[in-house]
Amino acid sequence: MAGLTAARELTHHAWDVTILDKGRSVGGRMATRRMGNSRLDLGAQFFTTRSEAFCTAVAAWQRAGWVSPWYTGPDPEDVHTRYRAIDGMNALAKQLAQPFHVRTEAKVTALQADQGRWQATTEAGETFEADALILTPPAPQTLALLGPLVPDVTSKLADVHFHPCFALMLTLSGPSLLPPPGYARPTTGPIEWLADNTMKGISEGPAAITLHATGAFTREHLSAAPAHVTSLLVEAAAPYLGSAVTASQLHRWLYARPVADHQMMCLSSDEPAPLAVAGDALAGSRIEGAFLSGLAAARQIQGLRS
Ligand SMILES: Cc1cc2nc3c(=O)[nH]c(=O)nc-3n(C[C@H](O)[C@H](O)[C@H](O)COP(=O)(O)OP(=O)(O)OC[C@H]3O[C@@H](n4cnc5c(N)ncnc54)[C@H](O)[C@@H]3O)c2cc1C
Repeated sequence: MAGLTAARELTHHAWDVTILDKGRSVGGRMATRRMGNSRLDLGAQFFTTRSEAFCTAVAAWQRAGWVSPWYTGPDPEDVHTRYRAIDGMNALAKQLAQPFHVRTEAKVTALQADQGRWQATTEAGETFEADALILTPPAPQTLALLGPLVPDVTSKLADVHFHPCFALMLTLSGPSLLPPPGYARPTTGPIEWLADNTMKGISEGPAAITLHATGAFTREHLSAAPAHVTSLLVEAAAPYLGSAVTASQLHRWLYARPVADHQMMCLSSDEPAPLAVAGDALAGSRIEGAFLSGLAAARQIQGLRS
């Protein structure tokens, strides 16, 4: 979201943007997986809107038919509407990426600055040159990529840490026991959140469950065998399932959510060449934080040019 937002903002200022993403698709933690006929959001489950800039963007996405409200409340302390992406979070990312040159499965492994321009080299050995660079991987990965090139920026990223998170996807033979609108947030045990993608309205099939483990459970079982982790989580989820599990897939997010909100919005430097760093760790650990950070990064880059 940070990278796509920055790209969209820069094209309003006539920049020619190329997106390099190591994934098979753009979207990062806005990921969606297929299991048979089922479609499951694997990372972010929904988003809320608090800032004016994000409200405006989401209203436009809603008019385009890319997102719609899922539910509001029920916590009276948190009245924000939760939005879902039609066809899953990754479909929204793909819509946002439509206008750009996108290179997927292009993992950047080296960066170099020469005479005020950037050069990025991918794992496959391709090189890309640019007048400016915006980096939006999770902060520890950005830190590793930049190495000693821009000490002013990297010194501010050094203490940014992330919680890991196991995400378990399950399809069921019949309906789940989750009450409408289709999610639960257990207060004890290894599960932080579980939701039924069929009830959310993005999946076919009787029930398609995404389950996120707590940070504590994930850290404790980080190196455990996937089958063992799966059986522990399925056992804990039993009160919410009510039907037999027909298939399962486990995913380990090493960089799921930043441990602290740093609220720096973005970092930038014009030496050794125009650079901005963005991502949820800098502006709030949500899709909205990534959006705001990407927007701020694009404006910094535009400011460095003008
Ligand atoms: C399990 C889970 C549940 C969540 N639930 C919610 C939720 O309900 N609501 C909410 O608002 N937020 C939620 N979030 C957080 C939300 O997903 C993130 O805040 C947001 O998506 C971060 O966007 P980003 O652009 O900063 O980073 P990312 O989405 O991580 O994007 C970084 C991109 O950089 C690419 N990349 C990394 N390294 C390289 C490289 N070397 N070369 C090329 N490309 C590279 C990656 O492939 C990726 O596409 C959740 C996250 C997780 C993991």
